[in-house]
Amino acid sequence: MMKSLRTQLSLSILLIPVITVVLIGFFSNWFINREFEKYVAESERTRGENIVVDLGNQYDDSTQSWNLDYVHIIGMYSLYDGYLLKLSDMSGNIVWDAENHDMSLCGQIMNEISARMEKLGEPGEFISHAYEVNRNGQTVGSVSVTYYGPYFLSENDFTFISDLNSILIVIGILAGVFSVLVGCLLAGRISRPVTKTAYIAKQIAQGNYDIRFERETKTRELNDLVIAVNHLAGALSEQENLRKRMTADIAHELRTPLTAVGSHLEAMLEGLWETTPERLTGCHDEIKRLGMLIADLEQLAKIEGENLKLNKTRTELLDIVRTVAENMSAETGKKNQSLTVTGAPVFVNADKDRINQVIHNLLSNAVKYTPAGGAIQLEVIDETDSGIVKVKDTGIGIPEDELSSVFERFYRTDKSRNRKLGGAGIGLTIVKSIVSAHGGDVSVESRPEQGSLFTVRIPKAGGINCPAARL
Ligand code: ADP
Repeated sequence: MMKSLRTQLSLSILLIPVITVVLIGFFSNWFINREFEKYVAESERTRGENIVVDLGNQYDDSTQSWNLDYVHIIGMYSLYDGYLLKLSDMSGNIVWDAENHDMSLCGQIMNEISARMEKLGEPGEFISHAYEVNRNGQTVGSVSVTYYGPYFLSENDFTFISDLNSILIVIGILAGVFSVLVGCLLAGRISRPVTKTAYIAKQIAQGNYDIRFERETKTRELNDLVIAVNHLAGALSEQENLRKRMTADIAHELRTPLTAVGSHLEAMLEGLWETTPERLTGCHDEIKRLGMLIADLEQLAKIEGENLKLNKTRTELLDIVRTVAENMSAETGKKNQSLTVTGAPVFVNADKDRINQVIHNLLSNAVKYTPAGGAIQLEVIDETDSGIVKVKDTGIGIPEDELSSVFERFYRTDKSRNRKLGGAGIGLTIVKSIVSAHGGDVSVESRPEQGSLFTVRIPKAGGINCPAARL
C-alpha cells in the first residue's frame, strides 16, 4: 500500500529517537548490571570478612566465652542485609544461628531477595561460605555465612536500578512524543509544497495554466521544484497563448488577402468594376503575398519539425554576407538606405544555404524596419571559436519589454504597423531555429527609434547536426 510522504517522513523521524533510547536502555542496563555485579560481589566478600573479624572480637579469651548480646546484634544486622550467620565454637557447638533464632524472619528475607533477583532476571540460589573465626591469632570458632549467589541486590540497589530504568522509559516516551511532534511538523513542511506542487502539476495537465504556487518554502530543493513547476506553467501558458494567437494570426493573414481578391474579382465578374490590368495586378499581388505567407509557414514547419538536416560544409561567412547584401541592394536603393559590409573572412562548419537564409531574414528586417535614408551595417568578426555576424540598423527599434519575444513564432512588436510592412512574425523564429541547430546563438540589442543590432554566433566546429533545436 502506498503511504503518504508525510506518514513516511513522520515514521522515519520517530524511528530514530526510539532506536536511540532502546539502545541506550539496553547498553546502560547491561553496563550497569555488569559493574554492579562486580561491585556487589566485592562488597559481599569484604562484608563476609568484616563479619568474621567482628565476630572474633566478641570472643573473650580469659573466660573463653562469647559476648552473646553483641553476637546477636551482629547476626541480626547481617540478617537484615541478607546474610544468614551460623556461628559455632571450636567444639562444633552452635553459638548463634540466624535460622534457629528467627526462622520466619529468615524465610521472609530470603524470599524477598529471591523474588527481587528473579524480577531482575538474574536467578540464582542461596550459597554458604564457611570462615574460621580468629581471636588474637588463635582460631576460636567458625562461622557459616549464607547469602543469595552469585550476587544479590539490596533493597536500595534494586531501587536504584529500577529508578534508572524508569527514567530511561520516561526519556524514551518524552523523546517519542517530541519526535512525533517535530516529525509531524517537519513532514508537514516538506510534504505540503510537494502535495501542492503535485496538485498544481495535475491542474496544468488539465490545461489550467494560470495556476501558480505563491508561497516560497525555506527548503532549497523544494523551492527549486516550486519555481520549476511555476515556470513550466508559465511556459505552457505562453505556448498556449502563442498557439491561440498563431491560429488567429494565420486565419487573419489568410482572410485579409482572400477577402480582398474575392471581392475584387466578384465586382469585376458582375461588371461593377471594369477589368483593368491595375486591378488584376492588385489581385495578383495579394495572391503573391498569400503564397509568400504559405511558403514562410511551410519553411517554419520544416525547420521546427524533426527533419531539418544540416548539410554542413566549410563555409565562409563574409562571402555569404556580401552576396546577400548585393541581392538586397535594389531594395535598399529604393529606400535610399546606405548598406555597408565590413569584417574579415571567417570559415565555419555550417549549412551554407541556411546561413544565407539567416542573414537574408535579418537584413530584410533591417531594410523593412528602417525608414528611408537610414543606414544598415553588416559586420563579420572572427573569434577564436566562432564566427560572428552583426546586422545593425538605424531603424524604428524594438521596445525593451518585447526584446525577448521577437524570436517567438508570429511575434510582431506592433501588429497593425507590421502587417502593412508585410511581415508575419516568422523570419526571426526561422533565424533562431537555424542558428540553434548549428549550436550557435542569436541575440538582439535595440532602442526604440534608435535602431537594432542583431548578433549571430556560429561555432567554427559546428554544433548538433540535426534535427533543428525546437524553440
Ligand atoms: P516579420 O516577418 O514580422 O518581420 P520577424 O520574425 O522577422 O517577423 O520579426 C518579428 C518582429 O520583430 C517584427 O514584426 C518586428 O516587430 C521586430 N523586428 C525584427 N527585426 C527588426 C528590426 N531590425 N528593427 C525593428 N524591429 C524588428
